[in-house]
Amino acid sequence: MSAFDSSRSGDRPPRFSKPNKARAIGWSVLAPLDDRDQHPCPICNHGQLQAMAMMDEAWACDFCRHLFTLDLSAQILRVEDSTQPLQWRWMGRSWQPVRHSSDDLTPAIWIVAAGLAIGPVGIIGLSQYLFPPLPGARSVGFSQGWFISAAIGHLILAAWLLLEHYQLPLYVSLKLRWQDWRSRLNG
Ligand SMILES: [Zn+2]
Repeated sequence: MSAFDSSRSGDRPPRFSKPNKARAIGWSVLAPLDDRDQHPCPICNHGQLQAMAMMDEAWACDFCRHLFTLDLSAQILRVEDSTQPLQWRWMGRSWQPVRHSSDDLTPAIWIVAAGLAIGPVGIIGLSQYLFPPLPGARSVGFSQGWFISAAIGHLILAAWLLLEHYQLPLYVSLKLRWQDWRSRLNG
């Protein structure tokens, strides 16, 4: 947005008053008990969010440089430069990830995850129990390895499904860092 972009200027106060305005209206509404004028970045948990000059509702982390928009009425912070549609709600002292999936999806997610973790491995284990390889045959080691790798693989799948559903803060920040790293490799 350039300085000549007047399409949204309307009756806004002069541009240089933006940080004060944001501090007075924005964060004091979000954190009435905590009057710091800086707030931690929910992605890297290291930098602080800074209001960007000349851009309404735009915030940036001074460490990882991710861009955010802040919806004051909903008290929602949204990351803008990520393919992940991540949002956080300010809880007075920290950011709480806002999940998109509704809570009534949770039992289904758990059933699918349990099925993933138990189902195929159970079938492999049952078939090996019912039709054990001949003793001393070379396939004993192979079938054990197959069983173990299938168990680990499906546990990882189930864990990934649950992490995607719950969007735990640590998982989210690791995922975004991984994206950063990949985009840096590609770019
Ligand atoms: Zn950051």
